[in-house]
Amino acid sequence: MTVATELPASDPSSTQAGPITMLNPDFPFSYDHYLARPAGLGAVPPELYGTEVAVVGAGLSGLVTAYELMKLGLRPVIYEADQIGGRLRTAGFPSAPGVVADLGGMRFPVSGRAFYHYVDLLGLDTQDFPNPLAPVTSSTVIELAGQKYYAETAQDLPPFFREVADAWKAAVNDGAKFVEMQEAIRARDTGRIKDLWNELLPLMDEQTFYGFIAGSESFKEAGFAHREAFGQVGFGTGGWDTDFPNSILEILRVVYTDADDQHRLISGGAQRLPEALWQHAPSGMAHWPDGTSLASLHSGSPRGAVDRISRDADGDLRIRERWGREASYPAVVTTCQSWLLSTRIHTEEALFPAELWTAIERSHYMQSSKTFVMVDRPFWKDIDPDTGHEVLSMTLTDRLNRATYLLDDGPDKPAVILLSYTWNDDALKWLALDADERVELMLHSLEQIYPGVDIASHIVGQPITVSWEADPNFMGAFKANLPGHYRYQQRLFTHFKQDKLPESQRGIFLAGDDVSFTAGWAEGAVTTGLNAVWGVVNHLGGSSAPGNPGPGELLDSIGPISLD
Ligand code: FAD
Repeated sequence: MTVATELPASDPSSTQAGPITMLNPDFPFSYDHYLARPAGLGAVPPELYGTEVAVVGAGLSGLVTAYELMKLGLRPVIYEADQIGGRLRTAGFPSAPGVVADLGGMRFPVSGRAFYHYVDLLGLDTQDFPNPLAPVTSSTVIELAGQKYYAETAQDLPPFFREVADAWKAAVNDGAKFVEMQEAIRARDTGRIKDLWNELLPLMDEQTFYGFIAGSESFKEAGFAHREAFGQVGFGTGGWDTDFPNSILEILRVVYTDADDQHRLISGGAQRLPEALWQHAPSGMAHWPDGTSLASLHSGSPRGAVDRISRDADGDLRIRERWGREASYPAVVTTCQSWLLSTRIHTEEALFPAELWTAIERSHYMQSSKTFVMVDRPFWKDIDPDTGHEVLSMTLTDRLNRATYLLDDGPDKPAVILLSYTWNDDALKWLALDADERVELMLHSLEQIYPGVDIASHIVGQPITVSWEADPNFMGAFKANLPGHYRYQQRLFTHFKQDKLPESQRGIFLAGDDVSFTAGWAEGAVTTGLNAVWGVVNHLGGSSAPGNPGPGELLDSIGPISLD
């Protein structure tokens, strides 16, 4: 099966091999090309110009949805319980304006081309993110079982780590056709991607990440120490063992699409992207005069937290805010974590099919915690005269901290240490502790790795910490499906195409990170927002632009398959 014939003949994607993009194997639709084509995303009948559409959540997904609906001449009405930006939240250190900490998304793979469409459009600067062993990272320390390894490049590490990396490479090649899949993604050969994936999917859906590793010939041969080290050091961004209980499908989607590689950060903080979408006034919109922005349409602030979603007798969807204001809309897009629809928002049950509710309820979210301190300067670049090494390095460890990142903006300026970034069980260990208690324990761990380096003496200002699972507007960091959850994800993702739903269940669309197949990556927030835009346009009687088929047009041919 190939969809090349369904794309315009001039589409470069159909013929040339190029870089890896986040072409998700479940639905390898080229959202970046869709966004780039001058024809645009479609049109609604002119008599509908100015029609209000509710968008719940002012995170990246909600803002992309609202921004594109505005460009089509509709009037998005955004509701937000807390801050514009959602999980792209940047905190500042009050005593040093401009010194920031990204509490949620912080490093964005260059393969996420739909995400970068907006970064580029809004003219935001980006820089390489200092991941372990990345070219921009001057040194990395791996500390396992009390043994410390210093490396400036991967070649500096003992052969054991190369064996671990080779075992992983062999495991994904032998068990999951990694090289073939990457070739197909480079060529944007959707037919090949689907053939490979559709064959693997039923075999893999019920396997954990750990089961996949432990069952692979390469890791069986290498032995437990290699599996253990792989879990602690992992690939790309660092240790992945807290992901071991999750479905291997989740991991394959990440590695096939290089989501774990070549990360960049947004200068000034990730929240600048949603904030810029809110402020931006695109030219040449349908209906709205130049100078109109989401901010101007909302007179400066989104509406408040949504408390109830129901359907009126005339079929419109009714939204009630926390403090009682109500309004009705012909269409609603929800972009908050979907399980908030049952835990925090009174959502009328009849709005979704029962199977979709099951999918919402069964979703599994990762916990995640980060703790930052500001320091007087990037003192870690000082050279230890005894070793000739920098006194502190980007650090991966099996201690509580798990990963420590060093972030600076040049010498003689305050800098930031992300003392610890953790997921799942490792994140829960911090949950009951306040910021100071966390910092004390983290410094204690680092003292064992770097005896004699007095990090505390460099700390200025108050520490900043977050546990996303403790925030009632999120209740978790991001979704990670467990084995056997593919069917749930397929229902959530495909819900935006509503032609087979009864009238009484149409008009409400799910978008956002957890509706995507790549939860935990902002690319999925963007692309599911675009799906919802397509859904709303169709629901209102509009259509895609000629020559630029949208996700709904291609869903049946290259969309996620159903398992029985
Ligand atoms: P959200 O940002 O969650 O937006 C939903 C919005 O809905 C929120 O603003 C929320 O306040 C609001 N809301 C909730 N309830 C209500 C209500 N009742 N009424 C109105 N509004 C409501 N991605 C990457 O690409 N790279 C990374 O390095 C990365 N790291 C991450 C690390 C962490 C710790 C976390 C948490 C996420 C990370 N991500 C990363 C994922 C990325 O942050 C998300 O994909 C993206 O921010 C999700 O955007 P969204 O709009 O889908 O959801």
